Amino acid sequence: MVTDPELEKRMAQDDFAGLGQMVQSLMRLPQGLCKTRGNCCRVVTYKGSLGVEDIAELAQSDSEQSENARDFLTLFEPYAHQEDAREIAPLFVEQVRQTVPEEKQAEISFFRCRFLGDTGLCRIWEDRPTGCRMYPFPHEKTIYHPGCGFAKAGQENWEKIQTIVNFFERRQSELKAQSQQLHQ
Ligand code: SF4
Repeated sequence: MVTDPELEKRMAQDDFAGLGQMVQSLMRLPQGLCKTRGNCCRVVTYKGSLGVEDIAELAQSDSEQSENARDFLTLFEPYAHQEDAREIAPLFVEQVRQTVPEEKQAEISFFRCRFLGDTGLCRIWEDRPTGCRMYPFPHEKTIYHPGCGFAKAGQENWEKIQTIVNFFERRQSELKAQSQQLHQ
């Protein structure tokens, strides 16, 4: 359990606006934590661990995720086989495979960014897409490469976000119960 005096104080004060701002700030991890190893650009998956055909289908659909899927396929090229990605990032590949049922594991596609240089550095760093500037987002489903500089802060921030969300839910039901009592 992560402790944070500022968070405790705002919850004690019912500072809903302040807590909302805290969530926004917790979603942005300091980019200085990156160890510039390039692993998160070298072996990548699309959300939901989808296969490349499913992502291509999504890109051509009229769903609200189509633009995101198109952008992804513009930036990343798929590895021909999972084994190619496994040679580079075995633990990451295994962790991703564990997120889907066994019979679906072979369908997952792994990708590499087209702009990753041979030295492991981004070749378009100054002009990199917004998603790269904000990556990674703290979330329970985020899988960090071993040794990733964001991992600790990402996990802690996600814990704090969950604490705030739980607080909002608890206070909302308490306030609703109080309001019902007043109107009885
Ligand atoms: S554009 Fe640069 S930062 Fe973004 S995934 Fe590619 S190599 Fe990484």
